[in-house]
Amino acid sequence: MQKETPELSIEQEQLRTENAALRKKLSEIERKTATYEAAYRTFNMVAEATHVRGIWNNKPVLFEISLDFSERVLSDQTLRESEKRFRELTELLPLALFETDLKGIITYANKKSFDTFRHTPENQHLGISGFSFCIPQQREKALVIFEAVKHGNHVSKEFMAIRKDDSLFPAQIYTLPIIQSGLVIGARSLVVDLTELKKADKTLINNIPGAVYRTNDEGKTIMLSMISDFLQDYTKEEFENELFETGAMIHLEDRNALVAANQTLRSSNTSLALCFRIVMKNGSIRWLEDRKTSAFSQNGLFTGIDGILFDITERIMAQEEKHHLESNLRKTQRLETIGTLAGGIAHDFNNILTPILGYAEMGVFGLSKEEPLYDYFIEISQAAEHAKNLVAQILAFSKAQENTPDIVSVQKIVGEALKLLRPLIPSTITIEQHLDNFCPNILADPSQIHQVIVNLCTNAFQAMDESGGLLKIELTEIHPDAGMRKLLPKLHAESYVKLSISDTGTGMDETTMERIFEPFFTTKSVNKGTGLGLSVVHGIVTSFGGEIIVDSHKEKGTTFTAYLPVIKEETVKVAIQDIPAKGKGSILFVDDEPSVLKIMTMMITKLGFRIEAMSSPLQALEQFRQNPERYDIIITDLTMPEMTGIELAEKLHKSRPQLPVILMTGYGKDMEQTICLSQYGICKFLKKPVKQAELASIINGIISEKTPNLTYHENSCY
Ligand code: ADP
Ligand code: MG
Repeated sequence: MQKETPELSIEQEQLRTENAALRKKLSEIERKTATYEAAYRTFNMVAEATHVRGIWNNKPVLFEISLDFSERVLSDQTLRESEKRFRELTELLPLALFETDLKGIITYANKKSFDTFRHTPENQHLGISGFSFCIPQQREKALVIFEAVKHGNHVSKEFMAIRKDDSLFPAQIYTLPIIQSGLVIGARSLVVDLTELKKADKTLINNIPGAVYRTNDEGKTIMLSMISDFLQDYTKEEFENELFETGAMIHLEDRNALVAANQTLRSSNTSLALCFRIVMKNGSIRWLEDRKTSAFSQNGLFTGIDGILFDITERIMAQEEKHHLESNLRKTQRLETIGTLAGGIAHDFNNILTPILGYAEMGVFGLSKEEPLYDYFIEISQAAEHAKNLVAQILAFSKAQENTPDIVSVQKIVGEALKLLRPLIPSTITIEQHLDNFCPNILADPSQIHQVIVNLCTNAFQAMDESGGLLKIELTEIHPDAGMRKLLPKLHAESYVKLSISDTGTGMDETTMERIFEPFFTTKSVNKGTGLGLSVVHGIVTSFGGEIIVDSHKEKGTTFTAYLPVIKEETVKVAIQDIPAKGKGSILFVDDEPSVLKIMTMMITKLGFRIEAMSSPLQALEQFRQNPERYDIIITDLTMPEMTGIELAEKLHKSRPQLPVILMTGYGKDMEQTICLSQYGICKFLKKPVKQAELASIINGIISEKTPNLTYHENSCY
């Protein structure tokens, strides 16, 4: 064995004594027992010796078998040391750490955990349940997690932790099993206080331009942040309750979509966005956009929904308004296209009607009543007259009809129109009038306003034909506000007369409403409707700078509202000329249409005037320049291939400024009318088809004046 060292420590001294005792015991045993065991320790080695009696060289001896187990002792020591080191380290850790047994009873807790949970070493939490560290509502959840840990899992979960003094703090708790000899003997948990982190989160959340919310697995939801005006009259709790729990404030039509979305989120880990409406206490509707995502635990359990709500009411409103404006624009463009087309057809049609009506009239004048042909001509002129009226309506729609604006009191015209209509109205229909008698005047053609009222009322009666009902006519003055001007962008005047005609009749669906202002659009049988009524109304109202809108609900009724601009100043009234006495004179007539040329020549000749008819404006100009003083009046068509009637008038006017020109057109009115044509000497418009009496009166009117240019109205285009 080993040499003794001169200085021995207490421990070594003790070991020596122990060993001496052992040897003594051994010599005693030697004499008594056959085998024995003894463990003895040297200074550097721990050994176990077994002594066995035996025979060696024919002598009885004692065999010693020594087993060195100093390594085992060393490893036990190392373990103890590492455990000590671990404890020391744990104590240094800036995080709360505790261990529990399999029942959850705390068996170890570091110093930081005393601080974190506000325990003092006196009331230290050894021996208490680790579950008491989380709020009672979450203990069940903690138990589930503890079970998972007992099965060897590592779990990280957020809890609301509770301190000894009952104060709360959010904590992330990491728990793992303590395993000894392959068996779980307890759990070890590390607690991270999330308070500061949450504070940082909160500032971040509060900066998000939406309302952030969190729903737990049972559907309980709290709002974590709020936009200042989000709640309106609601308290936060009311809002959470009515929006997330009961869903009472969600618009009925949107509830199903929301329920379906939540179900999707519960069943799969996904995100989605949806828009829905909420109805506020005052009945107003707000649009919300809800972006949400589901949360699942590591073991696949649904844990809740995190989401953010944006108030998108303004955006939706703007979209709706844009949509409305676009739809209005489309409708207007369609009507304008149809108007141009219809105006063109009407123009050509008037060219065709001119000879028909002209020859028929001449036939009537040329025959005595007894002759059979007389009746035929009468029939032709009546039919042509009918066609002329139809064309006039189309022209009214395409705003190409001649009108005679005047200062008009709408309430007066409503009164007159109703007087006319009343006998035609069945007794099952009640008429109610709410007319503001102080409504200001408008500038319009009274006969056209009359027509607007008659057409709208006729439609209203027809819609209530079968069931009867109430016809309401309202008239007030309004000053459009910004909102209204946005919806009806063509309303530029300061104030308008608002005329509403409403019925409680059949109403219309969206598809019908889209097309009602189109000419010839009708849903009525052949003898009841032509489909021109509303197109004429539209043409008239817009030609005076007004607007007409419709609001209709199927089986409920319809309201048409026309806005007509109020005229404040007295406008120059267009004087109506008396028909002067018959006169004689020389006329240069220009029209590219041979049939018109022919009939007009006959008519003008018949009226006693000398006429030179030319189909080419260039030739006419040539002819005129040869002797400008030869003609008393020029009558020219407006639309011709070489140059327009206006251009011709301009050129003629240069040669002879005093020369009166009559402009003849298939359009009753033309765009060029907006510029003052009197500067080219154009003093009259003549509408095709021309009637003899009208022609006579106009020509005579001009010629009878001694100085024809004095008959022009300075401010008028007529
Ligand atoms: P018409 O009356 O000859 O059919 P309109 O241009 O006056 O032509 O009207 C076009 C269509 O608009 C009608 O056929 C009808 O379908 C619809 N309509 C117009 N006014 C009303 C109303 N007050 N109630 C229900 N439908 C209406
Ligand atoms: Mg009608």
